[in-house]
Amino acid sequence: MDMATHGGIRRIDPRRPLTVNADGLKRIVLGQVGGGNIDFLSLDHKPAHLPVKPVRLAADAIITHCLLAVAHSDRDSLDEHARQAVAAAALLADGATEVVLLVFGELADDAAALGADRCIVLPQYGSHLFAPEAEMAILIALLEELRPAHVFMPDNDIADSDLGRRLGAATSAASIATNVVEINQAGLAVYRQQGSLVARRDLAKIILLEADAVDARLPFLGRGQAAGQLSAALNAAGSAAGVVSAYVDLGIKTMAASQMELDEADFIVSAGNGVGDVALFHSLAHALDAAVGASRVAVDDGKFKRDKQIGATGKTVSASAYLAFGISGAVQHLQGIKDCRHVIAINLDASAPMIKRADLSIIGDAQELMSALLEQVREAQQARQAEHTA
Ligand SMILES: Cc1cc2nc3c(=O)[nH]c(=O)nc-3n(C[C@H](O)[C@H](O)[C@H](O)COP(=O)(O)OP(=O)(O)OC[C@H]3O[C@@H](n4cnc5c(N)ncnc54)[C@H](O)[C@@H]3O)c2cc1C
Repeated sequence: MDMATHGGIRRIDPRRPLTVNADGLKRIVLGQVGGGNIDFLSLDHKPAHLPVKPVRLAADAIITHCLLAVAHSDRDSLDEHARQAVAAAALLADGATEVVLLVFGELADDAAALGADRCIVLPQYGSHLFAPEAEMAILIALLEELRPAHVFMPDNDIADSDLGRRLGAATSAASIATNVVEINQAGLAVYRQQGSLVARRDLAKIILLEADAVDARLPFLGRGQAAGQLSAALNAAGSAAGVVSAYVDLGIKTMAASQMELDEADFIVSAGNGVGDVALFHSLAHALDAAVGASRVAVDDGKFKRDKQIGATGKTVSASAYLAFGISGAVQHLQGIKDCRHVIAINLDASAPMIKRADLSIIGDAQELMSALLEQVREAQQARQAEHTA
């Protein structure tokens, strides 16, 4: 492994932006098409006049090589980190190379937009099931079938990093690079010793990418074809391995949201200075079975305990749904919710930064809305209970 040195050891600023490497090894940077800059916008806000992205592979392309991206889906979707791993494969692929995406779990995303040319979806696997041997058998069968030049996976806290390392151990002939922070056709770079060293090497066979090593906003589309037949063959490989599994999957245990750590909660209701009726707020959180968060002002006022504070000097959360009642959306608070998937803001002020951040905004009084919502939730719960007892 090539280690950049300066007086024996290269020391780098751990806070430097990841886009630039001191020795000129560039991390993939997108946004350049035909020499011009594209101002990438989210699809939801894309004006109609923007051109449709081109498909990366020509229609008559003769495919001679393959790159494989592998990821587990989360609630039928790939998270940003997994999307970046697929994007890395798409960016490195040339005009004769197909990008194949293998997804463990359901996938409702547009595979073409992810950059995949062929997509194999295995809905019976995924986060609801612990089946490492079956997944490994599937992956090895796929490697034999496709013989990809490289395998790209997100180096995350969930199943992908584990599966990638298992694959590296099982296929000892294959090289593996973990914690990859920079990558291009010429090679890749990883941090060592808490980011104080940067080490470089050629592209490995198995590449586990850190978050934000690659920009997932691609300037092109993949072909996005489904590979149904291949899925059936791989499922057979997985079932055979599952029969002799050394593990017993005890399933998923549910627990009350109030008992969960905020940074693990999937559904959070959060109160700011605009919440006057704290008891009503807690009743709503309880009825919705949501975890409780708060802004710093609400915590400083003594309305909530310090461990409920969300933001730069509080917790960073990554909920699927974040309901912000009477929170202005100061930059320090927004920092703590940057990874939340759906943000709903309730505020009197339509120009509050939280309204701009939110996917859905309700301009109105927090107390009135909490009362109305609580009433509706209770009605729905009673109706469901009546249905069960009938
Ligand atoms: C170094 C530093 C670190 C910080 N760290 C954090 C942090 O970790 N987390 C954090 O949250 N803040 C943090 N802050 C504070 C931050 O800058 C803001 O002051 C704070 O987030 C504001 O909280 P708020 O939005 O609840 O209150 P306000 O700024 O008072 O905003 C209240 C909002 O509620 C709305 N509102 C008022 N009444 C109603 C009503 N009846 N119905 C609906 N809406 C209503 C208002 O329109 C307004 O938008 C930090 C600040 C500094 C300097």
